[in-house]
Amino acid sequence: MKNPLLDHSGLPHFCQVSPEHIEPAVDALLSENLGAIDRLLEAPGPRAWDPLVDSLEAMEHRLGRTWAPVAHLNAVVNSAGLREAYNRCLPKLSRYNTQVGQNESLYQAFLAVAEADDGADRARSAVLEYALRDFRLSGVALPREQKARFRDIMERLSSLQSRFEENVLDATNAWSRQILDRSALSGLPDDVLERARAAAEAKDLKGWFFSLDFPTFYAVQSHADNRSLREDFYRAWTTRASDTGPFGGRWDNTEIMVEILALRHEAASLLGFNNYAEYSLATKMAESVGQVLEFLEDLAARCRPTAEDELNRLEALAGHPLEAWDIAYFSERLRKQLFSISEEELRPFFPVDRVLKGLFETTTRLFGIEITAAEAPDTWHEDVRYYEIRDSDGPRGGFYVDLYARKHKRGGAWMDDCIGRARLQGVDDLPVAFLVCNFMPPSTGRPALLTHEEVVTLFHEFGHTLHHLLTRVPYPSVAGINGVAWDAVELPSQFMENFAWRPEVLPAISGHYLDGSPLPTETLDRLIESRNFQAAMAMVRQLEFSLFDFRIHASDHGFSTAEMRETLESVRRQVAVIPYPAFNRLPHAFSHIFGGGYAAGYYSYKWAEVLSADAFSAFEEEGVFDENVGRRFLENILEVGGSVPAAEAFVAFRGRQPSPEPLLRLNGIPVGE
Ligand SMILES: [Zn+2]
Repeated sequence: MKNPLLDHSGLPHFCQVSPEHIEPAVDALLSENLGAIDRLLEAPGPRAWDPLVDSLEAMEHRLGRTWAPVAHLNAVVNSAGLREAYNRCLPKLSRYNTQVGQNESLYQAFLAVAEADDGADRARSAVLEYALRDFRLSGVALPREQKARFRDIMERLSSLQSRFEENVLDATNAWSRQILDRSALSGLPDDVLERARAAAEAKDLKGWFFSLDFPTFYAVQSHADNRSLREDFYRAWTTRASDTGPFGGRWDNTEIMVEILALRHEAASLLGFNNYAEYSLATKMAESVGQVLEFLEDLAARCRPTAEDELNRLEALAGHPLEAWDIAYFSERLRKQLFSISEEELRPFFPVDRVLKGLFETTTRLFGIEITAAEAPDTWHEDVRYYEIRDSDGPRGGFYVDLYARKHKRGGAWMDDCIGRARLQGVDDLPVAFLVCNFMPPSTGRPALLTHEEVVTLFHEFGHTLHHLLTRVPYPSVAGINGVAWDAVELPSQFMENFAWRPEVLPAISGHYLDGSPLPTETLDRLIESRNFQAAMAMVRQLEFSLFDFRIHASDHGFSTAEMRETLESVRRQVAVIPYPAFNRLPHAFSHIFGGGYAAGYYSYKWAEVLSADAFSAFEEEGVFDENVGRRFLENILEVGGSVPAAEAFVAFRGRQPSPEPLLRLNGIPVGE
């Protein structure tokens, strides 16, 4: 029987894939690829793009065509069999990647091709440049002993990082509160109370039982009238996995953090960098440690006065000085007072078909492309839709849309590639994307209705989708979002979000689901106004995290506990406006940077936001639907994928370097001098 995962002739055959196809398909491709690499390296004669690089691109592309549907099915229709097969393949794929990444002869062969490259084909040069960079960053060029040490460090880091996360998880799970007195819970929303009641019953307990998951913590901070209850939860939350608080010392991450920083520093030094921050920037748009620090400090200085005003306003409402556990509570009251707007009240005006239609029309006006529903021959669920995207010259690609939450589907919203764009070695594939959300499904007699926040999410993921689909680059490793610097990859997505807030667009994406009546103007105004609520406070908070992350990775040695502490305090003195109690140990649960991939990269959120706001401001200047600006964005940002460095692509579109001022303006923060 033929394995459907190895048939790369059209769209994937989702219905035909079963768990027993997965491992054999992956095994077959991996050994085929490794064999082909050996044969390429054994071939006599000088190294050239064709067949060497072209073949490598084609191999990775085929692997992607097999693996993308597997990873996707595992995420959206998970089952025990699928998960097992998927997990069995993960270590094989990672071993394969190390094997290829540390293959010295392959590295030398790429080097030879790169040396002969005349730079005439930008995309080819980019493929070579990034490939060589990634070879070096995986330690391929190190002497034997250092190479071994590098590999050991990487292995040790991955186990330390996962222990860091386990500690956070265990400390979070260990804490709970049983409350017997109903009056202590006043202010909490009904659904939170119901959940706590049910949790108590399930444990045969009286009263209400609360655990420390984020939604519960957030609800208590925002709504509980009882100040000491808020403080109790705040203390538990901000001391997780640390030396202090209710479980002080029990799942303490302190030593792990110190070792992680020391090892990262050593790994970076082995590769010739001064510190880990430099290593992190090797794959990003930002050019130097100094540039990132200046970027963050400048934004902080500009936002701080407005953030202080916002805090003063809160204090005026409260009538007393605020502690950290009062901020969310009084913010919620102020928000109600100012905007009296609720997401639930807006929902009936955003039926999903209306939103999609308006979103597609907006895209057509911006970029001159048509999006039409098409028959999806073979999908994984009856709710899935398939759309084709074309311009006047013909088809450009297609995308699956899977909108609703259901059992066995991973939470959140994302875009992923199904097929990358490829034109090489007899392969001619148009890009195909997955756009996945977890909205509330339709109920009887009522279509799916979105909150405005969900509408913004849809626009965001659609921005990623366009980036993946509209690329014109023929080489998969730099087509679409591939090869795009991490701190720039959110540019198209955050850019698209802006349209969901515009008075020119909102009427096109809304209309009451019963009679199509428009959003009342006054509601629409309040919605748009509410966008900037406490924007400066949110900004300085993100900047505080970013600066802390970047500074602890930018020193010329590892960091002791005391130094880490000192850095945190000095960052807070410089940036933060809300008061922090001495017991606060938020870094001990900062999984983004200690547990995973955002180390010395947390600033990327703000960096990309500056780019997207600045890009959007070109549309504000020329008119939101200006065709020329739309075409420039299409040609300079969306179509080039990773083949042009992000900084250069931005300047080509905007005609100048990025400026933080549009982001400040968009957030209602004075731009100043
Ligand atoms: Zn995104």
